[in-house]
Amino acid sequence: MTYEQCVDNFDREHLWHPYTSTINPLPTYKVKRAKGCIITLEDGTELVDGMSSWWCAVHGYNHPVLNRAIEEQLKNMSHVMFGGLTHEPAIALGKLLLKIVPPSMQKIFYADSGSVAVEVALKMAVQYQFAAGKPEKNNFVTIRSGYHGDTWNAMSVCDPVTGMHSLFGSALPVRYFVPASQCRFDAEWDEKDILPLKETIEKHHQTLAGLILEPIVQGAGGMRFYHPQYLREAARLCREYGLLLIFDEIATGFGRTGKLFAWEHAGVEPDIMCIGKALTGGYMTFSAVLTSDKVADCISSHEPHAFMHGPTFMGNPLACAVACASVNLLLSSGWEEKVKRIESQLREELLPAAGLPQVADVRVLGAIGVIEMKNPVDMAWMQRRFVEEGIWVRPFGRLVYIMPPFIISKEELTKLTSGLLKIVREITC
Ligand code: PMP
Repeated sequence: MTYEQCVDNFDREHLWHPYTSTINPLPTYKVKRAKGCIITLEDGTELVDGMSSWWCAVHGYNHPVLNRAIEEQLKNMSHVMFGGLTHEPAIALGKLLLKIVPPSMQKIFYADSGSVAVEVALKMAVQYQFAAGKPEKNNFVTIRSGYHGDTWNAMSVCDPVTGMHSLFGSALPVRYFVPASQCRFDAEWDEKDILPLKETIEKHHQTLAGLILEPIVQGAGGMRFYHPQYLREAARLCREYGLLLIFDEIATGFGRTGKLFAWEHAGVEPDIMCIGKALTGGYMTFSAVLTSDKVADCISSHEPHAFMHGPTFMGNPLACAVACASVNLLLSSGWEEKVKRIESQLREELLPAAGLPQVADVRVLGAIGVIEMKNPVDMAWMQRRFVEEGIWVRPFGRLVYIMPPFIISKEELTKLTSGLLKIVREITC
């Protein structure tokens, strides 16, 4: 299919797509339906999905169990406000989540999306420090190459170079950035790696409410996998200097890295944790912020005796119901075996790309495979070539990466990896 054949004029004229121009937009392919790992375009072209719709659709698309959960919930109610009311789907989801998150996480705040969860987490940390009698501790430190979402405060802690600081910088709150960990996930730990964070915390702890990071895997900010010891050292520093440790597990959560949550690689529990994306199996926008009794009780025992946030769609019953179904499905689906199988197949089939002169690095962790190119790719060209190969992969910058649904078959995954390698080989140095 050519781009001209799939373009929808109304869409092109009026609908603003992510990170693209309205005058000369990047191509958008019109999807008719999606089932399992296959996305079917308007003209019948079938694409094997390599993106899980940005980390979400771990069970693939149009899953009967998740469809049923939403249909059943619809018969009762699609929404009621969470202020002063509660409902079974919210309670059932809470019980389920407490069984799988770090044991110290005991309080759950439902939010609308990943970015909003990050906003909530940052507000929670500031309100905690205020309640603890340290109102001057109201800023944050983070590591470079991070990504935490597109809302104002989330943007302020994204990597200043790959994020949007060059555009919005002067309007954003100013955060402390330290170099990201240079120790790869499976390399030997180098004690020097933690020094920049240590120095910054030692110097500025009096004004720092917390440290926010994506544990183990930095996603959209660079697709980097770093050493678990970094998290242990960071946690120690946070405890020593009274900073709250915030883990953004929005992309890493629900099995993607080979553990149910990435904190498990290091055995380090955060003070606040954000989850989203695969929480609903990719069915609806939804997220949750979890924290300890210590943080929640401190906030609640001081003026104004409440956490100051309350989105309209908080605890939406449809989202809670499908999240319950998705988490239960994940836990009963042998996800660990599936992710292991995907990981070893990705290693076997992507690693040959490491020898290509146009490729800087190839790395795999859990159900994530990354080919880092030496130069930025031509996204529109590459996307078109992928579609011609019958696969759905969306590169950005120098990164060509896949994180397929866990239900992907061996043959579908081979189609993805061989298509990927074929197109990467077409790029000249
Ligand atoms: N944090 C991380 C680690 C993410 O990967 C994302 C989304 N890519 C977000 C936050 C923001 O989530 P959302 O797009 O749902 O607002």
